[in-house]
Amino acid sequence: MLIAGNWKMYKGPGETAEFCLALRDAELGAAAVVVCPPYVSLAVAVQLLAQTEIAVAAQNVHWEGEGAYTGEISAPMLRELGVYGTIVGHSERRQYFGETDECVAKRAEAALAAGLEVIACVGETEEQRERGETEDVLRRQVSVLPDDDGLVVAYEPVWAIGTGKTATPEIAQDAHTFVKSLLDRPVLYGGSVKPDNAGELLAQQDVDGALVGGASLDVDSFAAICRAAPTP
Ligand code: PEP
Repeated sequence: MLIAGNWKMYKGPGETAEFCLALRDAELGAAAVVVCPPYVSLAVAVQLLAQTEIAVAAQNVHWEGEGAYTGEISAPMLRELGVYGTIVGHSERRQYFGETDECVAKRAEAALAAGLEVIACVGETEEQRERGETEDVLRRQVSVLPDDDGLVVAYEPVWAIGTGKTATPEIAQDAHTFVKSLLDRPVLYGGSVKPDNAGELLAQQDVDGALVGGASLDVDSFAAICRAAPTP
């Protein structure tokens, strides 16, 4: 079980230090735990969590090692910081920054080649689900991802992200089974996971963990979600 916290554009280095110090003392249970702070807060998180089992990952990565790509960060740069992995293809990147399946695949490949673990996000919008296109969308998004031991998929229905609407455990289980039929990798569920719904989502057979947004910003709620993961 892997529980990853995606902090989005929250917590600069000061707040990150406070959070990491508190997280070090929190009871997290048996799950593997990852936090994904913004780029500017990665160094302090790596430093403060260095002697713990808690890993630190970025929220995105560029596909080139270096070059004239203003505002971007490369996989070797993340490795140099001591970062363990990165998210790619988050729906907010696809929605607000025009990221395509192809560029998400390039980011994933470059990160894996540099030795980073990758959490690749996929998921349908509400309109796509209503039109019965969920499987087509997932097939399109998953088919470009590399089949690699370092890759984990996160199924994040866009209609459930930051909306307070959570997929039912059955919806999550069905989607995860479908994703695994396309690519045999662990699949995390993401979309309004909270301490009070984490247990039943994580109990589904094909749910291998969670990618948590809003509820990962508070140490107590993030730790409660980590503890909700069933012990293997
Ligand atoms: C996310 O950002 O990946 C996410 C799932 O957000 P939230 O938990 O806030 O819905």
